[in-house]
Amino acid sequence: MTVAIVGAGLGGLALARVLHMHGVDAVVYEREPSRGARAQGGMLDLHSGTGQRALREAGLIDQFHAIARPEGQDLRLLEPDGTLLLQEETPDDAPLERPEVDRAELRTLLLDSVPECAVRWGHAFEHAEDGLLHFTDGSSATYDLLVGADGANSRVRALLTDARPARTGQSVVELGIPDVDRTHPDLAAMVGARQLLGAR
Ligand SMILES: Cc1cc2nc3c(=O)[nH]c(=O)nc-3n(C[C@H](O)[C@H](O)[C@H](O)COP(=O)(O)OP(=O)(O)OC[C@H]3O[C@@H](n4cnc5c(N)ncnc54)[C@H](O)[C@@H]3O)c2cc1C
Repeated sequence: MTVAIVGAGLGGLALARVLHMHGVDAVVYEREPSRGARAQGGMLDLHSGTGQRALREAGLIDQFHAIARPEGQDLRLLEPDGTLLLQEETPDDAPLERPEVDRAELRTLLLDSVPECAVRWGHAFEHAEDGLLHFTDGSSATYDLLVGADGANSRVRALLTDARPARTGQSVVELGIPDVDRTHPDLAAMVGARQLLGAR
């Protein structure tokens, strides 16, 4: 059986890894041209019962611990004027319930865990019918089982349901300041190891 997975994000790659571990051929089709084509974004916290469980199933939990940041379990909530609403400090020996990890490092870990030929870069899925996947460049590929792991605006999902994601009207702005301890020590002290800055 050939399993086609559309999307080389965290979900698609984790599934491909587990299938390969169990001897099932899985090919991941990703629209980005290469693994380094796009910055992957910031930090994720991976909880013990969900994201970490997937990595355990994938035999990658030790490698995850090597790149995880336990200090990221600290949490502060502040008003826009800096008033502290909530502060949770995690002791150094606390269990890794929700450590942070760099999304790009996690994706690299997953990418390196599957055979290189299992990921086909530059394949933007367009539609599927009669056991054939069609890509926007006109190429096609066969499959027995199709898995949509192509993110929030999944095209594969449209094969199953008319449901569409809808905007909630709320947006989240995430920003990072490189070398913040040196360039903006006042901000670094306010933020701590990890922070959510509340804005209303
Ligand atoms: C700001 C933010 C913060 C988050 N923080 C956390 C957190 O702290 N902890 C946590 O567990 N989760 C967090 N999440 C959720 C997490 O990012 C998602 O659950 C996870 O990325 C979903 O993985 P995925 O593989 O399903 O999709 P994605 O990671 O979105 O990957 C989808 C992949 O499909 C590819 N693709 C899309 N369309 C096509 C196409 N037509 N053809 C081929 N390829 C295609 C994309 O290029 C991408 O590589 C956060 C999400 C956001 C937006």
